[in-house]
Amino acid sequence: LTKIKFYNTASRQLEDFKPITKGKVGLYSCGPTVYDEAHIGNLRAYICNDILYRFLKAIGYDVRWVMNITDIDDKMIKRAKEEKTTIGQVAQKYEKKFLDDLRSINIGIDETKIVRATDHFKEMKELTDKLVQKGYAYKADDGIYFSVAKFKDYGKFAGIEIDTAKSRERVKNDTYDKSSPQDFALWKNDSDFADGRPGWHIECSAMSTEYLGQPFDIHTGGVDLIFPHHQNEIAQSEAATGKKLANYWLHNEHLLVDGAKMSKSLRNFYTLRDVLKKKYSATALRFELLQAHYRSKLDFGWEAMTGAETVVRDLRRFWAKSALVKKSKTLSLEDSYQTFVVALADDLNMPTALAVVFGVVNNTDNEGPVGRDFLRRVDEILGLDITNDTPPGVQALLEAMDLARSDKNFIESDRLRLKIEKLGYQVENSPVGSYAIAETQNSKVR
Ligand code: AMP
Ligand code: ZN
Repeated sequence: LTKIKFYNTASRQLEDFKPITKGKVGLYSCGPTVYDEAHIGNLRAYICNDILYRFLKAIGYDVRWVMNITDIDDKMIKRAKEEKTTIGQVAQKYEKKFLDDLRSINIGIDETKIVRATDHFKEMKELTDKLVQKGYAYKADDGIYFSVAKFKDYGKFAGIEIDTAKSRERVKNDTYDKSSPQDFALWKNDSDFADGRPGWHIECSAMSTEYLGQPFDIHTGGVDLIFPHHQNEIAQSEAATGKKLANYWLHNEHLLVDGAKMSKSLRNFYTLRDVLKKKYSATALRFELLQAHYRSKLDFGWEAMTGAETVVRDLRRFWAKSALVKKSKTLSLEDSYQTFVVALADDLNMPTALAVVFGVVNNTDNEGPVGRDFLRRVDEILGLDITNDTPPGVQALLEAMDLARSDKNFIESDRLRLKIEKLGYQVENSPVGSYAIAETQNSKVR
């Protein structure tokens, strides 16, 4: 197996990756609260997780990927009231939209284990009770709180100093003031739930361990989750068991708009639907969001999306053209593939890995089976879905078009070209024959 290094937020260093069980990786990603549509900043986070997942799988690991869905919290309750419906209805509606978005950007959720908070009240209650028994948590009139002063390493993970005198100044809801490291709710009394309901942090502590054990290998999320969410997960899990929660913590940087974090609260966000409405494809969005290093901030803009669309078309062109070349001039691209993998093994250095891909695609000597084999392998990791062959019906039209052209029957060849274009393909000619590239805008539109 390739030697991997990851930047571990826990140590603020690049570390060699050593899984707990040889050949296996347990991966947990904090998922969405399903009270609203995801924005494309959120999608960047899930794409970063997906690249990590696909990369580990491609180099031979057996990866178990778990992602939670928060389907109960203050935001859910508020939205249910606004929409004059039940929390369950809100959850169902937005979870479906979320999963559709993931499918559209080719995130393999069918293999991912999606777990819901409302299905794990029992595990969360047990963990809460254990923390009370061990003296890390206390009962108050409105619920059960974790006492941050009792956990001696509180703040260490996030690199935050806390004023323990302020402990017991409770943060009452789920919308945390990020500069308030005070006690947080593990469990809340709520007249709508017979036994009350969990706080947000306890969810991830209980569910990650339920499916991956403790400790498990890798925990991911956006940088905004380092504090308080991940700090609190660590405090709860480690206090309850005396064991580490996870060995490696990977955090993706934010997607920005004009230099500011894309977020609901700033109202500077776009959803996948906004992108599709502007006639950009989900594939181009995936490319745009994955091409930067996951630990770099990335500014979103429509000009960049146009560039991303061009890249996707170039990759598809290489694939389609290569089908017409019986034998590549290049004998092997194994070294290039290895260079691509080594770049990703270096803390997922995507810009370097993509430079290898563009180097291959821009050299016509690579067209043909050798180039196609390379592209197929890199796309297992990139997930751009660019290795689709022209459907037989379109291929037949292309051949008929080329035949008409060689007979100098240009009226017929133009008619056939138009027909192919109407099917959503762009037709191009080359010395080795004509080929068709699927119009990216039409791909995967939902
Ligand atoms: P939330 O629904 O706010 O809990 O966010 C879901 C995931 O998206 C978390 O991992 C966040 O850290 C991440 N996230 C939120 N906003 C952005 C952004 N602008 N760029 C990248 N990731 C984000
Ligand atoms: Zn979480």
